[in-house]
Amino acid sequence: ALTDEPTFLTGLNPPQREAVLTTEGPVLVLAGAGTGKTSALTARLAYLIASRRAWPSQILAVTFTNKAAREMKERIAHISGGAVEGMPWLGTFHSVAARMLRSHAELVGLQSNFTILDTDDQLRVLKQLIAAANLDEKRWPARQLAGLIDRWKNRGWTPKQIDAAESEAYANGRGADLYAQYQERLRTLNACDFGDLLLHMLTIFREHADVLEGYRDRFRYILVDEYQDTNSGQYEWLRLLAEPRRNICCVGDDDQSIYSWRGAEVANILRFEKDFPGATVIRLEQNYRSTGHILAAADGLIAHNSGRLGKTLWTDAGEGDKVKVIGVWDGPEEARRVGEDIESLQRRGTSLDETAILVRAQFQTREFEERFIAIGLPYQIVGGFRFYERAEIRDALAYLRLIAQPADDLAFERIVNTPKRGLGDKAVARIHTYARASQQPLLMAAAQMLDSDELTPQARRSLGRFVGDIARWREMASNLPHPELARILLDESGYTAMLQAEKSAENAGRLENLAELARAMEEYETLSSFLEHVSLVMDNDEARGEPKTTIMTVHAAKGLEFAHVFLPGWEEGVFPSQRAMDEGGLASLEEERRLAYVAITRARERCTIIHAANRRIYGQWTSSIPSRFVGELPKAHIDEETTMTGGASLWRAQFSERGDPFAHLASGAAHRASTRGPGWQRASGNFNAQPQRVIEARASAVSLGNQGRTDLALGQ
Ligand code: ATP
Ligand code: MG
Repeated sequence: ALTDEPTFLTGLNPPQREAVLTTEGPVLVLAGAGTGKTSALTARLAYLIASRRAWPSQILAVTFTNKAAREMKERIAHISGGAVEGMPWLGTFHSVAARMLRSHAELVGLQSNFTILDTDDQLRVLKQLIAAANLDEKRWPARQLAGLIDRWKNRGWTPKQIDAAESEAYANGRGADLYAQYQERLRTLNACDFGDLLLHMLTIFREHADVLEGYRDRFRYILVDEYQDTNSGQYEWLRLLAEPRRNICCVGDDDQSIYSWRGAEVANILRFEKDFPGATVIRLEQNYRSTGHILAAADGLIAHNSGRLGKTLWTDAGEGDKVKVIGVWDGPEEARRVGEDIESLQRRGTSLDETAILVRAQFQTREFEERFIAIGLPYQIVGGFRFYERAEIRDALAYLRLIAQPADDLAFERIVNTPKRGLGDKAVARIHTYARASQQPLLMAAAQMLDSDELTPQARRSLGRFVGDIARWREMASNLPHPELARILLDESGYTAMLQAEKSAENAGRLENLAELARAMEEYETLSSFLEHVSLVMDNDEARGEPKTTIMTVHAAKGLEFAHVFLPGWEEGVFPSQRAMDEGGLASLEEERRLAYVAITRARERCTIIHAANRRIYGQWTSSIPSRFVGELPKAHIDEETTMTGGASLWRAQFSERGDPFAHLASGAAHRASTRGPGWQRASGNFNAQPQRVIEARASAVSLGNQGRTDLALGQ
């Protein structure tokens, strides 16, 4: 035993201490949110170094995000007073594997300076292969193949390991063959994709015993955070490395598994005890992060999931504030309300760094960004682009800019071949040359070149269509509401179709963002005033250095904590997402619920959940139903508030300002609504029984979802 106890051990509770001090042999720490898993893992790392059991370079520590890796580095520097000689191998699976692969690239036919492709590059390569294989890309989209290949790589399968049944999933059994061709093509490009980083290392480990031996010898200790989100390939990689010494310590929480869509398998938790028999399993039950009500609310919610490993959590931090559940009128009010709350926290001395808004989907950030810019509240978007910087938004804006201002050459360049209309670099270069020579904007130059033979007939045809389209939309612009114009041009240009052609979660998100853009436009009188607003917003540099509030997705917030957490958009169709409700059945609903659990458990002192009664979707006011998750929160731990306390006058004011969103309802429905029991609880209960599309269910949604408020409106 240590007499002079190092600081990183003081304050740890007995099971945490056990997780730190059981240095030899496999250790699995299975525990709920905020119980100090990451803290224990970090202390373990520090202890291994301080006790000279290993040099830093002999330790491999895997985190789930780069941000988490950075935080762990900081924590270690802090714990050890900065006196760590050398650094452990500390990073995400991908970053660690990339570092290894650079040293052994030649074993898989690459050079050490290989490039790592992003998704766009990957798709481009696949499209070429699909075309070369004489397959119709419309029938067999590249994205589908990319998804399959990704899945195979996540499982650690090389092309040879793909069996007929798997291969069948693409182009009548040609999946495996195309996968092999793709890998070959990447080799000639001296490139690999994200999935390859790990897969190549797996292949090397399997085929080159000496290399594997080298790493086994080096890594005396292996530490893994967020273990519940590892996929089979990652697990296999860990197992190979850890096998002989078995000094592997994994920490995780089955209730926080939120990446099954990326191939993570909770089953790995169960596999661990089988593959590493005799593992010490440690459970942590004291939560140090959140106050009582927050913890109890999260606990009550996750209890609705089946097939959990189950656990007890307690805190001695006191009850604290109840989880606040606020019903607001609409999206803008939601943003206004959060802005006000944050400002009032700030006035009472809370640092903005201690506040966060965690959203389910990227499109939700826009409303908050605009509000915060308007009131001058410093904010940052973590793990994603700011709304107007996203590729699809920039594309749409480029169309609008070119319509508003035909001399906008940057806009022209951005969209002349987006979506693809067969205007390659050569054609664009010719237009450039001609424009320079004749000193006119690209669009004018292009229009004049239609009659010349500078371009191939095919290029002339598509350019003609493009120029004609722009002219037509310009004309429309003068007599159509501009959000309508945006929708039309996105449709007619083929942009929407391009995104719809390849079904994927990202494209669904992009389409949502574009719908959100049209919504944003509705707030401006003219197209040019909207565009001016956007350039002002884009110019608003991210606040540096000073404290700022954070906006991020719940996925990105895993492992983090904030004193004050705001969770907007808890409505059916937003959270749980429409996609989960439509496609996934029980499994994806349970994953959404785990996500909700992660969201609530990020809060230390205060957690505020918000749902809006109305959202404008595709230019239509739609009534939304509070999320079923709101109804699942135990009543004793929440504090409900609706901002509709202004009663009838406020309602009437809202109605006359915006038109009555309930106008399409027969008054009978509203009346029926007013005679029902307490608001949303019943609504979410009904909804549970009969999941259906929110938009289709709009009429009944109003009568169920807003009845508490309808009462107010009608009763006074
Ligand atoms: P998550 O499941 O969200 O990843 P976690 O289990 O990794 O959470 P940590 O992030 O390690 O939990 O710890 C949560 C909070 O509790 C942190 O603020 C940490 O500093 C604090 N904490 C951890 N262990 C202790 C302890 N023994 N005494 C006091 N505070 C602790
Ligand atoms: Mg953690």
